Amino acid sequence: AAWEKKIRHSSTPRRPNGMSILVTGAAGFVGSHCSLALKKRGDGVLGLDNFNSYYDPSLKRARQALLSKRQIFIVEGDLNDTPLLSKLFDVVPFTHILHLAAQAGVRYAMQNPQSYVASNIAGFVNLLEIAKAANPQPSIVWASSSSVYGLNTENPFSELHRTDQPASLYAATKKAGEEIAHTYNHIYGLALTGLRFFTVYGPWGRPDMAYFFFTKDILQGKTIDIYQTQGGKEVARDFTYIDDIVKGCLGALDTSEKSTGSGGKKRGPAQLRVYNLGNKSPVPVGKLVSILEGLLNTKAKKHVIKMPSNGDVPYTHANVSLAFKDFGYKPTTDLPTGLRKFAKWYVSYYGIQSRVKKENHIKSEHPEDS
Ligand code: NAD
Repeated sequence: AAWEKKIRHSSTPRRPNGMSILVTGAAGFVGSHCSLALKKRGDGVLGLDNFNSYYDPSLKRARQALLSKRQIFIVEGDLNDTPLLSKLFDVVPFTHILHLAAQAGVRYAMQNPQSYVASNIAGFVNLLEIAKAANPQPSIVWASSSSVYGLNTENPFSELHRTDQPASLYAATKKAGEEIAHTYNHIYGLALTGLRFFTVYGPWGRPDMAYFFFTKDILQGKTIDIYQTQGGKEVARDFTYIDDIVKGCLGALDTSEKSTGSGGKKRGPAQLRVYNLGNKSPVPVGKLVSILEGLLNTKAKKHVIKMPSNGDVPYTHANVSLAFKDFGYKPTTDLPTGLRKFAKWYVSYYGIQSRVKKENHIKSEHPEDS
């Protein structure tokens, strides 16, 4: 069928020994960037996404259009659609899965808890069931989250720190994913690598995240809430630029062991690995806002309030030495540089020019940036 031809074409690598990779959540923020980077270096990429309306689906469609221009096809379907997943693996002998589809967001879990269970637990198990039965067995890299550290107060967070105090249902489902991965590695020899992303931001980002809606609200003259911890300290995040995260994902894929079940050379028991992917430098939210004010040439109307009990944690800070040791992960983009790229994208995507500094001006502040 034409559909089969399309998915074969999309997932066929163009370089020798290239990967044939299924990217779940390919119409999402991180998934779209990773898909483009993989395709660019000659790997075969097939996307899967259900295009849900957790945030503006037109943004997902725009990312899909971008991928489509690069010959990346996204199959529209759900992680829980077993017949669909089986069909994909019947047609394509995927060597890898980059599993990024999930119900993201911490606060929305209070409104729609079941969507987290459905995508992050049931959907993940469904994907693992398909992968375990596939021949060859694909190596899997999947998105966990810094939120698994929960109320941990030891900083910076290392992979050895406790993760038994999730502060939100989102965090609990991500933590559950790590435990579930362990069992599939242990019993079925699936090679699995979990990546704990720390607050990822950048062009084509997620409208539900603070840096994104702050930008929108500042430009519209709306008041923004800035959280303080109960102890009166400012909330801070280890903001990590999308290009650094993409490099981390590709590094993890490149060093992921072939599962014992896969055709090639057996290299001993398949691994289960978990890594932090962050920026090693937490920034208080007030500082984030002042950078945005400068870039947008607009003063924000700020309302400082005590952090409500909504699942947010006061502070995140990644120790990334393990990812550096195993695959050379090294974040290189600082927050002002990354936000400038985000603001530039935001302005051109939404066609807002009026109150924003001219692009040249944004550029001229940092002549090193082409
Ligand atoms: P995103 O919401 O932009 O992307 C996820 C995509 O998955 C969406 O396009 C959505 O439509 C799709 N999806 C959701 N449930 C699905 C299902 N059941 N079946 C098929 N498709 C489904 O989010 P993102 O920021 O790109 O995040 C990617 C991954 O990284 C997620 O697993 C998220 O939990 C994790 N993560 C993100 C951040 C961050 O700061 N962006 C931080 C930590 C972890």
